[in-house]
Amino acid sequence: MGIFEKCFKFTKHRELMEIGYYPYFRMIESAQDTEVLVSNKKMLMLGSNSYMGLTNHPKIKESVIKAVKKYGSGCAGSRFLNGTLDIHIELEEKLANFVGKEKAICFTTGFQVNLGVISALVGKDDSVIIDKTDHASIIDGTRLSFGKVYKFDHNDMSDLENALMQCEKNGKLIVVDGIYSMEGDIADLPTIVKLAKKWDAGIMIDDAHSIGVLGKCGNGTASHFGLTDEVDLIMGTFSKSLASIGGFVAGKQEVIEYLKHHSRALIFSASMAPACVAAVLTALDIIINEPERRQRLWENTHFMQDGCKQMGFDIGRSASPIIPLILGDNMLVFQLWRGLHDEGIFVNPIVSPAVPPNKALIRVSVMASHTKEQLTYALEVLEKVSKKISLFAQIKPQI
Ligand code: PMP
Repeated sequence: MGIFEKCFKFTKHRELMEIGYYPYFRMIESAQDTEVLVSNKKMLMLGSNSYMGLTNHPKIKESVIKAVKKYGSGCAGSRFLNGTLDIHIELEEKLANFVGKEKAICFTTGFQVNLGVISALVGKDDSVIIDKTDHASIIDGTRLSFGKVYKFDHNDMSDLENALMQCEKNGKLIVVDGIYSMEGDIADLPTIVKLAKKWDAGIMIDDAHSIGVLGKCGNGTASHFGLTDEVDLIMGTFSKSLASIGGFVAGKQEVIEYLKHHSRALIFSASMAPACVAAVLTALDIIINEPERRQRLWENTHFMQDGCKQMGFDIGRSASPIIPLILGDNMLVFQLWRGLHDEGIFVNPIVSPAVPPNKALIRVSVMASHTKEQLTYALEVLEKVSKKISLFAQIKPQI
């Protein structure tokens, strides 16, 4: 069997399927909206990253159709060679302007941005310093770089300083999520900026979950803290509030030019399809011109956070539409997930290694387009299912 031996020994997923607790790869038969169809059954979606609720927006769908009619279905090449369209350039100019940076460059996924940027910038004499709970794509970006990797405890600024102290004198890059994708808390950017100045490090912020959500007009974490000029690189994805797929990084002109000529994930991968570019252009316009959407998102977020807390859930340090119900034990998470699934509520179970062991959680995520009625119903069902499985009696106190 050799190389494939591990595959034949891998049975965990089947064990979960046998007891009805397998939550992954659920097949959705409708658009990603506040309600979705799963196995022909209507479910209330509280597990989507479409925070602005734009993935099924008529204007966006219209612009996608127009782009396909004009540009066809794909670019058949990388940005570097034959895959740069006028709308790629238009989007990059708009994005740079939106996040307050000189230039931006788009990649085909957000994952590729982190892989491509970190590996291109962090050379063999450099150091990259990351939060232990940074997104997998950041971790993989550091693995592809030739530099030294330092990890600090989650949002622990004294541990960040410890890491900075250990770095060699050469280039240093701190990379953090703006909003952490599993626990929904926000990076302590003001302290990161102070420490970066003290230790002469650059800062890259991953705004995958912050674009549309944080900042004066949804333009991210740096804007939220009034620190746009202090952050060197802002990356974002299009797979969440921007209703499509792809990603970008924005920064100083020279840095973006360097990345355009050194980032392998950009140069050796085909460019974003025209349909995706058009969707992001329109989504960006909507986010900028309809601030009431972000207001609704925050009203919904606070309503849901309060409801979960009042019921007795530990929602950690959530300060965003990502609301974790921290239960600790994997099986407890699967039990609650299954109860909610059976009652037509779509949420995501998050277990180790996506979170530390004993920190398993149900990830609830709120959209601007949820109605108060939908959220009230979700809270009622959450309470009913929690009682039915005697959830709170089973939770072990965390030491
Ligand atoms: N960064 C973070 C923080 C993410 O949550 C994600 C996606 N879950 C990515 C990067 C990768 O983005 P994409 O889905 O566009 O590849």
